Amino acid sequence: MIKIDKLHFGTAGIPISSPKKNSIDGLKTVKSLGLDGMELEFVRGVKMGFSMADQVRSVAAELGILLSVHAPYYINFNSSDREKVKASAERLIQSARVGYRAGAFSVVFHAGYYGSSTPYKAYNRIRDALKGVVRTIADEGIDIWIRPETMGGLAEFGDLQEVIKLSEELEGVLPAIDFAHLHARSIGKINTYQDFAKVLELLEARLGRVALDQMHIHVSGIEYGSRGEIKHLNLRESDLNYEAVLKALKDFRVKGILISESPNIEEDAILMRDTYMKL
Ligand SMILES: [Zn+2]
Repeated sequence: MIKIDKLHFGTAGIPISSPKKNSIDGLKTVKSLGLDGMELEFVRGVKMGFSMADQVRSVAAELGILLSVHAPYYINFNSSDREKVKASAERLIQSARVGYRAGAFSVVFHAGYYGSSTPYKAYNRIRDALKGVVRTIADEGIDIWIRPETMGGLAEFGDLQEVIKLSEELEGVLPAIDFAHLHARSIGKINTYQDFAKVLELLEARLGRVALDQMHIHVSGIEYGSRGEIKHLNLRESDLNYEAVLKALKDFRVKGILISESPNIEEDAILMRDTYMKL
């Protein structure tokens, strides 16, 4: 486990203002913006090799940037097609391998869709598939958190209780908390300081202090309807009370990484860092 002594603010991938669209220049831009986190976006496949991962590791370490990974979108551990489940496991394992090599502390993924399954059946299938993933990466000596994300759409597996339960049952698993998704999934109901504080209290009560000391967080503005998430927005175009999120994170002395997934990426990462600092 990587020791983390603060909350790092970072970008979902290479900042928009980065002159060159590669991870090394991305890290340098993150640093020049006064940010200290970056998520490696493997969302369209794990294209980074080990030699690039080694370079990313040394540049990030030199610049004091904490790294996380987003695994490919093409993962569904609740597919009835065994081959798709197998391919999903391979994508997540490969994300963990390359991410670990790059020095990342955590890899987030979207677990799957309910489809025609009951939530109970989806949960059991996803847990069983993940059990194999965490066994494989432990066997390979890979030390990285595996993080099912709280999802914003009601058709997607991943409410807060589901990701907490997976984390209780499986070694090396903790939730990735996307506060915009929690807000969208509740159709706007979760939006006050008390609501966000309750989430953090629950994480600590069920998973221990490590859940708050090694936290992996996503925040963005969000548009939602009766089925939850529609799309990400910039924070200032959205009704998400991000100041309340940040106040709760500060009051609970949360450490780890907070990634901006707004369309303007670094602008909202900077806005959140500055808001947090002033609290
Ligand atoms: Zn995600």
